[in-house]
Amino acid sequence: MNVLAALRPTDSERGAEEEGAQVPEGGPGESNSWSGSSTAAKLTTLEVAHTDRTRESRRFPVPPVSETGEGPLGLYIHIPFCARKCPYCDFNTYARLEPLYEAYSEALCRELGRWAARLDGRTVHTVFLGGGTPTVLSAGQLRLILELVHDRFALADEAEISCEANPGIEDRGQFALLHSLGVNRLSMGVQSFQEEELAFLGRIHDAEDALHAYEAAVDAGFANINLDFMFGLPRQSVAAWHDSLGKALDLTPRHVSLYSLIVEPDTPLAHWVETGQTPAPDDDLAAEMYETAISRMGEADYEQYEVSNWARGAGYACRHNLLYWRNQEWIGVGPGAHSHLRFPTGLRGESIGDLPFMSGDACDEAAGSGAPVAAVRWSNRKGVQGYIKRVDAGESPVDFHEEISAEVSMGETMMLGLRLVREGVPFARFEAMHGQPLACAFGPSVDRLQEEGLLESDSERVRLTPKGLLVGNRVFSEFIA
Ligand code: SF4
Repeated sequence: MNVLAALRPTDSERGAEEEGAQVPEGGPGESNSWSGSSTAAKLTTLEVAHTDRTRESRRFPVPPVSETGEGPLGLYIHIPFCARKCPYCDFNTYARLEPLYEAYSEALCRELGRWAARLDGRTVHTVFLGGGTPTVLSAGQLRLILELVHDRFALADEAEISCEANPGIEDRGQFALLHSLGVNRLSMGVQSFQEEELAFLGRIHDAEDALHAYEAAVDAGFANINLDFMFGLPRQSVAAWHDSLGKALDLTPRHVSLYSLIVEPDTPLAHWVETGQTPAPDDDLAAEMYETAISRMGEADYEQYEVSNWARGAGYACRHNLLYWRNQEWIGVGPGAHSHLRFPTGLRGESIGDLPFMSGDACDEAAGSGAPVAAVRWSNRKGVQGYIKRVDAGESPVDFHEEISAEVSMGETMMLGLRLVREGVPFARFEAMHGQPLACAFGPSVDRLQEEGLLESDSERVRLTPKGLLVGNRVFSEFIA
C-alpha cells in the first residue's frame, strides 16, 4: 500500500522549506549539521513544482505586497536552533549555536522590520514562530521578536499566533512568557510516549517530560495546543502506537498532527538504515498504523481536516497551515524561510519592482519577457552566519526565487488543496484564484480519478475519497505537469 506517499508530512507547523542541499556555514554548530534534501515535514509543493524560470540572484522581483492577492496573509518566523539535532531531521536547524542567538535575534528583527515597512499596513492574519525550537531563545530574545511583531505589523484582531516548542526546554517559564506576549497556539513535538522510541528518535525528553510540558502549557493559559506524533518507526509495534495515541487522546488537546517517519537522505538515520544498524521502516505496518489512527481519532471526535492533521472543535484547524494548503500568501523570515505571493489577475514583469532594501541595481530581469506571472516564491539563504552577515550589511538574504506560471499555480492549488480531506478544492475558490473553472483546467484528470474511486465531487468541491487518501501522492501528481 502506498500510504506513505500520501503521508509525507507537511510539518505544517513550518514555512521554512528547504531547497536543495543544506550548507552549514561553520561556527559551533557546523559539526552537527549535514547536507539535506527537501525535508519530510515541510510543504510538498516544492518537491514537485516546476517553474517557467528559475534564477539565483541577490536581486529578485517582487511586487508591492498591497498589489497581490486579497486573501489572508501569513508571517512565518524561522528560529533555526535546537538543543540537539535529532538523527532523522533534515530541517534547516542547528544545535550548539548558542553564541549566535543574540546576533541572530537582532538580524531577524531587522528583516522583520523591513517587511513591516514593505507590507504597508496590509493585515497579517497568522504568525507562526517555527523551527527548530523557538523556545531555546532567551526570554529577552523572544520578547524582542514578538514585541516587534505586535508593534510593527498590522495584525488582524483575531490573529492566530503560533509557536513551536519541544518538551524538556524550561517549559513553564517560556510558555507563560509566550502567552503573555500574545501567542495563542502552542505546537509541541511530543512524537511518542514510548521511552525506547523517544531514545531512538534522539529526543531530549522522556514521556514524563512531555506530560509536564503539556500541563505547563495548559497552566500558562493555552487553550489551543497541538501535539505532534510519529509513526512507522523501525521496530515500532501497532500496540505501542495504540498506547501513544491513547495517552495523547487522554490529554484532550485541540489539535493533533500524526506523521510517518521518512528516512531523509544524508541524515544519520539514513546512514543507520544503509549500514543495517537500523531496519528500514515497514511501509505496510505504517499504513496499518495510519488507518488505525484515522479510526481512533474519529472515535474521539477529532476531525481529520488534512492528511496528517486532526482538530477537535470548530476553529481549531491550524489557520497558518491552511494558508499553505489553500495556496495563499505568506512571508517567511529567517534563514531558509520561503515566501509566496500571488497575483490573482496575473502580473507582468514591467509592473514588478525591487524590494526596497535591495541596494543599487535596477532589476533588469524583472521586465523579462513580460509574460504573465501567477505567483512568485522565494527563499532566504540557509546558513545562519551568512544570513546574519547579509542582513546586518543591509543586503537581501534571498538566495532563490522563482516565478510561477498560471498553469503551475493551478496545479499547486490542486495538489495542496486536495490534502484538505473535507474541504478539498472548492470550485468557486479555484475560479476566483485562477480566472477559469476547475473543469476547464483539469476536467479530464478529475473525471479519470473519479472513475478510479480516488476523487469525489459535488456541486461545490472536489476532494479525495477514503481510498484516495491512502494513495494521496499518486492523486496529487496528476495535477503537476
Ligand atoms: S527538535 Fe524538531 S526541528 Fe529540532 S532537530 Fe529535532 S526534529 Fe529537527
